[in-house]
Amino acid sequence: MGEFELIDKYFKFSSHAQGVSVGVGDDCALLAPTPGMQWAVSTDMLVEGRHFFADVDPFTLGQKSLAVNLSDLAATGAMPRGFTLSLSLPSVQEPWLAQFSKGLQDLSHRFGCPLVGGDTTRGPLCIGITVMGEVPSGQALLRSGAKAGDDLYVSGTLGDARAALLALQGELRLEPGVLSTIRHRLEAPTPRLSLGQRLRGLASAAMDLSDGLSGDLAKMMKASGTRAQLQTNWIGQSPAISPSLQTLDFETRLSLVASGGDDYELLFASPPGARAAIEALGAELQLSLTRVGEVMASSGALELDKINSGLVVFLDAHQQVLELKAQSFDHFS
Ligand code: ADP
Ligand code: MG
Repeated sequence: MGEFELIDKYFKFSSHAQGVSVGVGDDCALLAPTPGMQWAVSTDMLVEGRHFFADVDPFTLGQKSLAVNLSDLAATGAMPRGFTLSLSLPSVQEPWLAQFSKGLQDLSHRFGCPLVGGDTTRGPLCIGITVMGEVPSGQALLRSGAKAGDDLYVSGTLGDARAALLALQGELRLEPGVLSTIRHRLEAPTPRLSLGQRLRGLASAAMDLSDGLSGDLAKMMKASGTRAQLQTNWIGQSPAISPSLQTLDFETRLSLVASGGDDYELLFASPPGARAAIEALGAELQLSLTRVGEVMASSGALELDKINSGLVVFLDAHQQVLELKAQSFDHFS
């Protein structure tokens, strides 16, 4: 099978998408911008051995590849408009490609994000996706908007993906049956697109959690010129910790949440006046939105050389600062 036959067979699945005048097949895709909107564009790459295991199910890999990109649009409050796929493959394995394509299509259709172009080459297995979305001009949710006094919330549950990864690597013992209930959180996370769009006008800042709460929140605080205090009672018991993790000891849960990763939930800041609206939104979307702490004014004495030093502190039940060991996932440290 040649390159062009392969593209036609597996990656030409979005021919009649709204707003896409030209999709896969020409030199460029042509997308019609909507008046009054800004483009929101983001790229994420998944590399075999680094972001997924060689033997991972290709259907869920297709889902995850697009999901992690859509998660960035969600964090911005944007609506998906299209994506491109840069694919490097060691060889053409049709059963693998068919499943990978189905997984991609599943998310593409579910979230209305057509595949409009890409590039295909031979090489180590690597999947690069660029998503394009639109957001009403001036209304994008950024990392830089948090203000002292804002509440901090997280969506869904945190720590499941890292627990699943550690269990698969034999580094964490889970009760029988637990791995199978949380494995999908690692392999096929759900981008929180509806939540992100509904947070426009409510949240002062937002981002998606990909590298663990501690480090990701530190990035938001750095961008906002603020710092954060997180209570830890919710790590003991709250809707933000799935029942699957309730049997683990507190220290383990804290580290899964603080320095885990791959959660793909949204972290956002909002003024206390928005509490009732946020509670109603969570109920409407049937998604838990848990208040985990608050934004504080930055004090001049903070050390800013390390990304998290002093920007995010976790408080124990007596409001004392908890020392954390690992901070955040970083490919180069
Ligand atoms: P060019 O050489 O002009 O850049 P290619 O020959 O690489 O174009 O690709 C032909 C067409 O197929 C283009 O429209 C390109 O966007 C599309 N395409 C190539 N690879 C993929 C892929 N993996 N997924 C979707 N579209 C692809
Ligand atoms: Mg060309």
